[in-house]
Amino acid sequence: MKKRLDLAAFRDGILSGSRVVLGQAITLVESALDSDQELAAELIQSLMSHTGRAIRIGITGVPGVGKSTFIEAFGKMLLEKEKKVAVLAIDPSSQLTKGSILGDKTRMESLASDKRAFIRPSASGGTLGGVSGKTSEAMLLCEAAGFDVILVETVGVGQSETAVKNMVDYFLLLMLAGAGDELQGIKKGIMEMADALVIHKADGENLPSAKKAKASYQNALHLFPSSPKDWSPKVSLASSLSGLGLEETWREVLRYEYQMKESGFWESNRARQRINWLDEQIHYLLGQAFLRDSKVKQTMDHEMENVRTGILNPGTLAKKLVSLFLSTERPQ
Ligand code: GDP
Repeated sequence: MKKRLDLAAFRDGILSGSRVVLGQAITLVESALDSDQELAAELIQSLMSHTGRAIRIGITGVPGVGKSTFIEAFGKMLLEKEKKVAVLAIDPSSQLTKGSILGDKTRMESLASDKRAFIRPSASGGTLGGVSGKTSEAMLLCEAAGFDVILVETVGVGQSETAVKNMVDYFLLLMLAGAGDELQGIKKGIMEMADALVIHKADGENLPSAKKAKASYQNALHLFPSSPKDWSPKVSLASSLSGLGLEETWREVLRYEYQMKESGFWESNRARQRINWLDEQIHYLLGQAFLRDSKVKQTMDHEMENVRTGILNPGTLAKKLVSLFLSTERPQ
């Protein structure tokens, strides 16, 4: 077995921008071993003052909308602007599919081969609470390693959007035109979360329908209540094949950054996100500890059937289980 790096080696490696050490540190963060978790926590804490300087961008859209192609094209454009780019992905289904959605194809090959970029396909295993906490930590590690832009990709099919929205500064929704009903497949809630909407694959014969879709999305957005941060999301066209709209997408990000920093929203949003992350992690860790407790487990196994069949009130069992959990002797 390869010898594990110690705290100083991890820290120095990350601060010197080593992609290899960064990758190992993220593996450490994702490890379920208690000893790895302890080291990961120490490492992140020791790097806190080196975090927070990147622009964090969430990118979502239904499978097939072209997220990985877009991220590759957008990422390469950012490299040309002397930005160091890290790509992280949240795949809530990775436990079920063993990461197949985001990890199967060799994705973003040319971006991945560039030394100024770092790509981590998918946080492994765990529930969403676990995965999103680990992605937030991976993001901090990337920042400490000197990455200027962090792109967090998620599949546009459910709760993971909210998780990503809660860890990024800017949330970008990729959409397709010409799929019949323009709003098909995209939940209104996700549109409301977006800071920008991009109609992707606006090239060749798709172009006219993309232009039409742009107009109808723009109209749809007018119906949404205005956001407290005083920002109206724009709808734009993009093509990762022709390069259309990539520059404009970046300019919008910078305009947003400028405006939100001026108004103070940028920092207040991050502060809110940290508290939210704390809250989520407490729930997650408590839940994990609870389900691992042997007395809890035993009683649950015993009484579950009675709850299922309606003989035992779920509330009564829940109270009993929590009392059992709280009465467990734990080392100080
Ligand atoms: P993802 O599932 O959202 O990550 O989508 P992919 O990036 O894997 O792309 C899905 C398909 O759309 C692939 O066949 C791509 O070649 C194609 N595609 C991606 N971007 C574009 C684009 O800008 N224009 C066109 N015409 N096709 C694209």
